[in-house]
Amino acid sequence: MRLIILGPPGAGKGTQAVRISERLGISHLSTGEMLRAAVQARTAVGAQARGIMETGGLVPDELVLRIVAERIELPDAKRGFILDGFPRTIGQAIGLDKLLGDRGLLLDKVLEIRVDESALIDRIVARAREAVARGEPARKDDNPQTLHRRLCAYAQETAPLVDYYAGKGLLRSVDGLQSIETVADHLLDALRT
Ligand code: AMP
Repeated sequence: MRLIILGPPGAGKGTQAVRISERLGISHLSTGEMLRAAVQARTAVGAQARGIMETGGLVPDELVLRIVAERIELPDAKRGFILDGFPRTIGQAIGLDKLLGDRGLLLDKVLEIRVDESALIDRIVARAREAVARGEPARKDDNPQTLHRRLCAYAQETAPLVDYYAGKGLLRSVDGLQSIETVADHLLDALRT
C-alpha cells in the first residue's frame, strides 16, 4: 500500500505514520527526518537545507523530489510506504505523480489529519518541553517564531493539496483533536473506505 499522511505541523502526522507503518508492514518515509539526517551528516543536501529548516521555510521542490526518488528505490519501500511531510507543495505532488507513474505505481489513499491552529501551537510547545524533560534537545524549529512561519507555509503551500487529492478521489480526512488511539483507529477505518 502507498499512502500519504497530510496535516499541519503538530497535527500528529509522525506519531500516526509510525503506527500505520507498523500495523500495515510498510515503510515510514519522513522527508523531515531525511533532511535532519542530511544536516547532521553534513552532506551537500544538508548544507542546502539547514538554514531553510531552521527558519521554518520549505526546502526547494527539486531537492526534496530527488531525495524521495532515491528513497523509494530502496528495497524496503517495495512493500509499500507512508509518506510523512511530503508532498508539501502542488509542484511536489505533480512530481510525485510522475515519479510513481514512471515506475507503474499508484497511490492508494491520502490521509488528512485536521486540527485547528490554536491547538497546534499548544502541541508544539508541549513537544519541545517534553523533549527537554527527556534530556533530548528540542527540535530547532519547535519554537513560536519558527512555528508561525511553518504554519504560514502550510496554509499557503500545502493546504491546496487537500483539494488536489480530493479531486482525485483519494482523500480521507480524520478529526485530529482526539486521543492518539482514537485518531489511529479512525485513520485505519478510513483506509477501508
Ligand atoms: P517536518 O519534520 O515534516 O516538520 O519537516 C521539518 C522541516 O523540514 C520543514 O519545516 C521544512 O523546512 C523541511 N521539509 C520537510 N519536508 C519537506 C518538504 N516535503 N518540502 C520542503 N521542505 C520540507
